[in-house]
Amino acid sequence: MGEGAQEGEAIKAQGQGKEVNGGNMAELACRNDKLIISQGSVCPLCGASNLTSKWSGHVVVLNVERSEIARKLGIKVNGTYALTIND
Ligand SMILES: [Zn+2]
Repeated sequence: MGEGAQEGEAIKAQGQGKEVNGGNMAELACRNDKLIISQGSVCPLCGASNLTSKWSGHVVVLNVERSEIARKLGIKVNGTYALTIND
């Protein structure tokens, strides 16, 4: 049972811990598909502007075809996704 992280994904359990009130550039996550968007205000995946800064934890999917987590979460495109939307 030595194999932890599988190739194609990396999980970071730590959340953002960001202040809601801060006017700084918080990364936003799409409420539809949880994609984390580092710039802009529209999700490049679904085209919605239904974004929130209240998310915690994220998973980086590097190889969506080999990632079990991606399959579980219904992720079809490589990217960084929030694990939990808190809003
Ligand atoms: Zn989206």
